[in-house]
Amino acid sequence: MESYWGNVNTIGIRSCYDEGKRVAETLCADYAREYGVDVRMVRIFNTYGPNMHPKDGRVISNFIMQALQNQDITLFGDGSQTRSFQYCDDLIEAFRRYMSLERPAIDAFIAKHKLGAAVINTGNPGEYTIKQLAEETLRQLPESTSKLVYGPMPKDDPKRRKPDITLAKELLGWEPKVPLQEGLAKTIAYFRTLVK
Ligand code: UDP
Repeated sequence: MESYWGNVNTIGIRSCYDEGKRVAETLCADYAREYGVDVRMVRIFNTYGPNMHPKDGRVISNFIMQALQNQDITLFGDGSQTRSFQYCDDLIEAFRRYMSLERPAIDAFIAKHKLGAAVINTGNPGEYTIKQLAEETLRQLPESTSKLVYGPMPKDDPKRRKPDITLAKELLGWEPKVPLQEGLAKTIAYFRTLVK
C-alpha cells in the first residue's frame, strides 16, 4: 500500500535507486507545499514493452533477448521470487487519467483517505515467479534452444513485489488491461526486429 513508508538500506547496492525515488517524492511534496505546484505522484511498478533497451538488464528484456539468440536464460536464485509486470500502454493510460483529473477531485480524495498527498501505485497485480516468466518466454519462442540456468541471487533483491492498486482504481477508475501473455507477445515481436 502507498501508506507504507518503507524500510530500506541506505548504503546497499540498490540504495541509490531506492533513495533516488524517495527523494523525488520528497521534492515534489515540498514544491507543492512551498510553491503550490500542482504535482501528481505515481509509483511505477515493473513495466515492460516494445522499445525497451535490449541491454537494460531487466528480466523481461534479458529473457527475450537470450531466448531469441539461443543463449542460456539466466535465472537469479531459484527463480521462485515473484514480480508483477505491467505493460507500458496500461501505465500510460494511468498517467493520462491522473494528469487530466481536476485538482478539486484529487483534494477531495486526499481528504477522504486522510492522505498527505495522492501518491498512487500503478502496476499489474498479476503475480508470476521468475521461473514462470522464463517458461512463458520459451513457450512463445518454441524454436529457441535456450536452457534455464540458475545463478546467484543479487543482494537486496526483493522476494516478492506486487502492487496494491486500490487507490488507483478508486481515484482514476483504472486497472491494467493487458495480461502478461499478450504483452509479452508484443514485446517479443519488437525484440525480433533487433535480432538478425
Ligand atoms: N532476474 C533474473 N534474471 C535476469 C534479470 C533479473 O532472474 O537476467 C530477476 C531479478 O533477480 C529479480 C527479478 O528477475 O528477482 C526482476 O528483476 P528486474 O531487474 O527486472 O526488476 P526488479 O528487481 O527491479 O524488480
